[in-house]
Amino acid sequence: MQIASVVVNKTARALDRLFDYLIPERLENQIKIGMLVYVPFGKANQRIEAYVVDFPHKTQIKELKEIDSVIEPEPLFDEKLLELIFFMKKRYFSTYLAAIKTVVPYGMGLHGKSVSDKVLKGSALALSYDEAFTALETARTKAPVQARIIELLMQNEFVANTDIQMLLGCSVAAIRALEKKGVIEPVEIEIFRNPVDYHTISPTKPLTPNSDQQKAIDVISDSQADFGVFLLHGVTGSGKTEVFLQCIEKVLNQGKTAIVLVPEISLTPQMIHRFAGRFGRQIAVLHSRLSMGERNDEYKRIKNGDAKVVIGVRSAIFAPLQNLGLIVVDEEHESSYKSQSVPSYHAREIAAIRAKQQGIPLVLASATPSIESYYKALSGKYKLLTLTNRANSQIMPDVTIVDMRRELVEGNRSLFSNPLKQAIRENLDKGHQTILFLNRRGFSTFISCRSCGYVVKCPRCNIALTYHKNRDFLTCHYCGYTQKNLHVCPECSSHYIKHFGTGTQKVEEELAELFPEASVLRMDLDTVSAKNSHQKILEQFEKDKIDVLIGTQMVTKGLDFENVTLVGVLAADMSLNLDDYRANEKTFDLITQVCGRAGRGSYAGRAFIQSYMPENSVLQMAKLQDYQSFYEEEISLRKSLMYPPFCDIVSLVFSGFSEAFVDTCAQKAAKQLKDALKNIPAEVLGPGACGFYKMNNKYRKRILIKCRLNDTILNIISDCIAKHYKSKENQAVSVLAETNPTHIM
Ligand code: ADP
Ligand code: ZN
Ligand code: ZN
Repeated sequence: MQIASVVVNKTARALDRLFDYLIPERLENQIKIGMLVYVPFGKANQRIEAYVVDFPHKTQIKELKEIDSVIEPEPLFDEKLLELIFFMKKRYFSTYLAAIKTVVPYGMGLHGKSVSDKVLKGSALALSYDEAFTALETARTKAPVQARIIELLMQNEFVANTDIQMLLGCSVAAIRALEKKGVIEPVEIEIFRNPVDYHTISPTKPLTPNSDQQKAIDVISDSQADFGVFLLHGVTGSGKTEVFLQCIEKVLNQGKTAIVLVPEISLTPQMIHRFAGRFGRQIAVLHSRLSMGERNDEYKRIKNGDAKVVIGVRSAIFAPLQNLGLIVVDEEHESSYKSQSVPSYHAREIAAIRAKQQGIPLVLASATPSIESYYKALSGKYKLLTLTNRANSQIMPDVTIVDMRRELVEGNRSLFSNPLKQAIRENLDKGHQTILFLNRRGFSTFISCRSCGYVVKCPRCNIALTYHKNRDFLTCHYCGYTQKNLHVCPECSSHYIKHFGTGTQKVEEELAELFPEASVLRMDLDTVSAKNSHQKILEQFEKDKIDVLIGTQMVTKGLDFENVTLVGVLAADMSLNLDDYRANEKTFDLITQVCGRAGRGSYAGRAFIQSYMPENSVLQMAKLQDYQSFYEEEISLRKSLMYPPFCDIVSLVFSGFSEAFVDTCAQKAAKQLKDALKNIPAEVLGPGACGFYKMNNKYRKRILIKCRLNDTILNIISDCIAKHYKSKENQAVSVLAETNPTHIM
């Protein structure tokens, strides 16, 4: 009889391996890779779900049990997607099961009913992933239904309560019980239905490409049958989207299919209309605000071949399209392509593997490419395609960098510099709109001198040190370097050295004092909720001609307002001194985006960028929109400090209730890693305190490994994690591993 290896649908780390079963004669020709089956498990032969992943020729096990039955006749993934599952398990240190569940959305194959309300009542995890894991293990024995709800919510950011009940056959009481325990929280989201009303969309024809566009289309289409990565670099409005549309059209004409990834925030109705106008009903849209029923419907259309172009967010990279011909990742530098849960995959990385499997082109597009991608483009690994001119003639705004040190000398201690104040005044008088931007909601953590701009940084890592308020010390959460807080500036002896802390709320208050007559809207995590989605706030801003919009990151992308002629970045330093090696890259991107907001219509726009370090070269180059020079400076910095793309970074976060025990486990692991990596070019930093050292009563310590990832190193790290979990008493401390994290906090 034939043997099948399966992954069981149980999350316990100890069960994270393959189990072999015999395929009984009655199922012989039915079992395929990717099928969900029932198998007898454990001493009691409990009947549990399992996924078929291999057909080995032999096995070590003497007495094999038989597969019980097939749950669904259709496989949930094919061999190509299986390769991705194995890849993710290895590269992101996840379990088999977590990797499978990332590829196969929960409830797929079940017939969900669509919900017609505009607002969907549902639930989301109220805990971090590793805390949820602990809650799950506890619930598993005591309250199995609750355990399944937790599992469901660990795999989905949000699930409608009706879907939870329908999928798990449970009552509302189980949901309420988990809410009471604080494990999950009620969330209402406004449904963003696939808003394609084909009757209102008029078909569009391809525009006549300009010469840059034509070249890009030709080069990409010529390599249709070969794997290759193209970096399409061009400012916003240079016609990148038109290039994808025309390449996709060629792909469809050959009977093939395409995936287009976009960041959540730019998946707007306008964007969808653009694709629907060109490709009609051949498109499918995948995003996190669909109900499960709708998501299932889209999956069915993709699987049966009705949908040929999938437009979606990060997870759409796993769309089960047959006969792929092209993959596009728009705004490839966006950090939302990196998953924040386990496995913490990067959609760009997965896209490259899918493209390679199929032997097809992958197009990465951006106005401000990630340093990693641009490096690969210049070194010949990717092919660089540049769109030099704007397809529509738009004027760049006039950008001023305001020296906040001078404002201080002149006695201005307000958040608003005099030039910005005056510009707001003028805008109010003209009836034009203004956007003010602050890139963090709450408090920032770095210490800087307001007299000279000096910032306290780690001497080893060049990362701004994090201020820990309760103990008044500064620490580098990359390497653990710690020093006493400073009260006098070492550069200029000023006493005006302190931590930076301004929230959007404070900006709103001060603005109300300065301009009591101005109408103001605020958009940050506190004001944006399900019912008050950011889309809605923006609509109100536009429709009601609100004078000033104050916001965080959210206001930078994808907005297009005729009447906005002034943008202010209140504290550019907050971005420049992020405790992250990507601080410069993020700042350059931010300022490019922000400046793109001013003057989209017929009026010329102005942008004011306030800083205590106005001579900073990143600000200067961003002001000139000089990506090339920025890249050259940044890449040499990355090289000298050994940051990506010159190495990979793996972060291991140890967390638990006992501070001492967390430290013990982290120290042990660090020692073990240092020993194992002794003869390999790799650097083990820490353990050091995380930026958020204490979260939900748990202490968090981090080890960072800088190295060039290969199989040997991946195995060493995953052995280290496995070794930690092997000891029973260590279960009190969890380890969260991340490969090339986007936020090291
Ligand atoms: P990007 O994706 O780089 O922001 P788009 O493709 O959205 O740029 O193009 C910006 C604008 O220019 C759109 O309104 C688009 O319709 C228009 N456009 C793009 N290419 C052409 C072209 N070849 N001829 C005329 N208009 C174009
Ligand atoms: Zn100073
Ligand atoms: Zn350091």
